[in-house]
Amino acid sequence: MVSLYDFDRDGLADLLEGEPRFRVDQLWRGLWVEGRSLADVTTVPAALRASLAQRFPSTLVPQADVSSDHGSTRKWVFALADGATVETVLMVYDDRVTVCVSSQAGCAMGCTFCATGQAGFTRQLSVGEVVEQVLYATRAASPRRLSNVVFMGMGEPLANYRVTVDVVRRLHDARGLSARHLTVSTVGVVPGIERLAREGLPLTLAVSLHAANDETRDSLVPLNRRYPLARLYDACELWVTATGRRLSFEWALIDGVNDTDRARDELVDFASGLHAHVNLIPLNPTPGYLVRGSSPERVRAFRDGLVARGVNATVRNTRGRSIDAACGQLAAVTNAKRSLTVRASRPVVPEGPPPAHE
Ligand code: SAH
Ligand code: SF4
Repeated sequence: MVSLYDFDRDGLADLLEGEPRFRVDQLWRGLWVEGRSLADVTTVPAALRASLAQRFPSTLVPQADVSSDHGSTRKWVFALADGATVETVLMVYDDRVTVCVSSQAGCAMGCTFCATGQAGFTRQLSVGEVVEQVLYATRAASPRRLSNVVFMGMGEPLANYRVTVDVVRRLHDARGLSARHLTVSTVGVVPGIERLAREGLPLTLAVSLHAANDETRDSLVPLNRRYPLARLYDACELWVTATGRRLSFEWALIDGVNDTDRARDELVDFASGLHAHVNLIPLNPTPGYLVRGSSPERVRAFRDGLVARGVNATVRNTRGRSIDAACGQLAAVTNAKRSLTVRASRPVVPEGPPPAHE
């Protein structure tokens, strides 16, 4: 289904052919600059709004709306027109308001520790479907101003490259969000990083590294077999030289797997030359990966060890754990629902001989 937010300004002008020119400006202003829902763009006549709403209903139908951290973290599960589901998380901090958006329904990358990866891939999202997540969160955050967008929800943004870049450009050009406050997180799709480096967009790139030796990374991130660390390093170097932007590495600390002194030293070797910032996060437990996250003491010691060796590192706080809104937990609700459906579709009658007609 096409979203009204799939159209750029020229696209809206085509849609409104026959209407006075200024209608295009009014609609564009209301939807993009002011971030209103179509129903609230009252500068446009009600009849025109109604006909647009009929042709382009919202692509997101909220299925669940849960909050935690005293209301400062909120997660929505949205059903899309074809029934696929995505999740969006809003995080309100003292100094910024961040939305974490999904770029795909599911994900094909199969990282072993990630709930989205465990659920598999459903489909790509469109520009409108991603933008609508941002605007939904923008309205929910009001009167605070939404300042940051991170592509860290469900899916691999660089495997939906054109959509990701279009969304970034539109949020920057039309919504006035600073590109520096837009973060694309990738598992390490090397050709995507190389292409992004040449787009000339001053956004922030986060690479989900998790291990700096190929053997461990192969076991956590299957894509590493296609693009091993040496190639990833070159792509990161290209990003830094071409954009002059800081690079960050995400590192989910897993007990006994990547929180050892050896893992730390490998990370120091990998990150130092790139002057990368490291974001540490204790692994969130997911149903399909029964290994524990590192203890808070180990997380602190790991960070101190990096800092002592000259690598900039911070520990990210894990917002929204209790509502399955933390990193890697998205799709957990959908998974739970799926397994309930599977269970419910089994015969309800107790085990015994099959009925005679079978
Ligand atoms: N596909 C992209 C962006 C979505 S995942 C990527 O992988 O970067 C967003 C972040 O959540 C990534 O850094 C990912 O490694 C992390 N993540 C996934 N599962 C996690 C888990 N169980 N615990 C902590 N972080 C996790
Ligand atoms: Fe996909 Fe990112 Fe999860 Fe890996 S960590 S399966 S790339 S969403």
